[in-house]
Amino acid sequence: MTIAHSFHVEEPKASHDMMAIMEDVRLVRCLAYINGKWVTGEHFHPVENPADGAVIGYLTQLSQHQIEQSIIYADSAFRLWRKMQAEARSEILMRWHNLILQSKQDLARLMVMEQGKTLRDALGEIDYGASFIRWFAEEACRSYGETIPSHIPDAQLLTVREPIGIAALITPWNFPNAMVTRKAAAALAIGCPVVIKPASQTPFSALALAELADRAGFPAGTFNVVTGDAAMISQTLCASEKVKALSFTGSTRVGKLLLSDAAQTVKKCSMELGGNAPFIVLPDMNVTQAAKAAVEAKFQTAGQDCLAASRIFVPQAKYDEFLDAFAFEMNQIVLGHGLDAHTTMGPLINRVVVEKAHALVNDALEKGARLVAGYHTPVPGDNFFAPTLLADVTPDMAVYREENFCPVAGVLPYQEVDTVIEMSNDTEYGLVAYVYGHDIHQIWQCMRGLEFGMVSVNSVKMTGHPIPFGGVKQSGLGREGSQHGFEEYSEIKYCCLGALPTVSGS
Ligand code: NAP
Repeated sequence: MTIAHSFHVEEPKASHDMMAIMEDVRLVRCLAYINGKWVTGEHFHPVENPADGAVIGYLTQLSQHQIEQSIIYADSAFRLWRKMQAEARSEILMRWHNLILQSKQDLARLMVMEQGKTLRDALGEIDYGASFIRWFAEEACRSYGETIPSHIPDAQLLTVREPIGIAALITPWNFPNAMVTRKAAAALAIGCPVVIKPASQTPFSALALAELADRAGFPAGTFNVVTGDAAMISQTLCASEKVKALSFTGSTRVGKLLLSDAAQTVKKCSMELGGNAPFIVLPDMNVTQAAKAAVEAKFQTAGQDCLAASRIFVPQAKYDEFLDAFAFEMNQIVLGHGLDAHTTMGPLINRVVVEKAHALVNDALEKGARLVAGYHTPVPGDNFFAPTLLADVTPDMAVYREENFCPVAGVLPYQEVDTVIEMSNDTEYGLVAYVYGHDIHQIWQCMRGLEFGMVSVNSVKMTGHPIPFGGVKQSGLGREGSQHGFEEYSEIKYCCLGALPTVSGS
């Protein structure tokens, strides 16, 4: 069956604006990619630029049958891919990595058009995303097993690490390139084919990665990108016995639904979910430096970042000074279209997030928070939201409790380091916590006391390919990147090689 032409629909054209920014126009695809072919669904949905609402291209809606076909193709590919020498897989991954870096400018501009972030941030994301491919291409050749000192007389005991099978990867809109590569590189390197379902608001980055994967020479069926109805696609992937791993990055709400769906077939699940990061300024910290770091930790990707600092805790003695310094730094942010060289913060992804930001501010103000800066500042379009600083935030406010995922910063004072650790932990989330200060005893107290998967001291930049990225509590399960990244896509097989007794006379 040639699913590529099953509906005989022509590929719709991306907008003139989209094509005009690309040197390599073949990177803009409005189809899905299955078994090494570009595939049309029955319908197309427009995809909008969040900066101005203009339609930039179309997403094809695959049918359930097409998703099932993608699994069948990936299953056939698995037989070949898993047996390929690790070095051969590694070479294909490195070709993909190099092609991505050669197309870096195009990929970044395309990302700005669909996601809204600044070109600088998008370029940074392409480097970040590519770094996982290089890392896992190298790790592919080092997926060692182990030998075990035997407790059974004359037996040899050993383990081998084997690819688990087809990996379903479901990704969000806030990092449309890196969330794909961080998962796919690990899965592909260890020998698993992937079926990737990108967010419907930002499909083009994943589809451009598929075009480059095609050029890199991945065998047909190892790399698939499917688009369309999220619930149908994920339920089809979860129901399949052939799909052995599910890796999801997105909201905790959807993560829970997927865990329940994946339970039917007992899949290995890794979940990178929401966060509600505390940012603790220790008593001996310089306030200007702390405020600069807190603004950076809060407003990257317009606050739509699972690592964004949400609750900023400041010693009572330095509270007013900190608020002034934070407001000053925050007011340097320039809103605009991500491709404009002066822009330092783009739009929010859509109107729903803008409405949520208004609701968070109103809820906080009604419950006694103080608006220090921002909010009423004019913005350049419907999806923009002025960076906003709220002081005197309390635990009953939504801005404190919920993952706010927008450019609203909540600050509150504290008295003792012990209590600030307790307050920081008072959340269902546990992704990242930031600590700024000098006193090594207090730093150590925070590092050990904070119930988060990652604790970053005196550095906002803490992520990257060599570190185990992931959360605890309702922020997720499993780790991405690092030497542990293969664990989500492989199984350890234990082998016992016993010694048969010698048969006399033989
Ligand atoms: P989301 O609404 O959970 O969507 C993520 C993905 O799930 C998208 O591909 C989406 O598809 C799909 N999806 C939506 N509803 C679904 C359903 N009922 N069944 C199955 N799949 C469904 O999250 P988002 O709004 O895109 O991203 C923001 C969230 O991601 C935040 O909570 C953020 O903290 C989290 N995040 C976490 C990390 C991390 O590493 N921990 C990193 C980045 C983001 P459609 O787009 O087609 O609806």
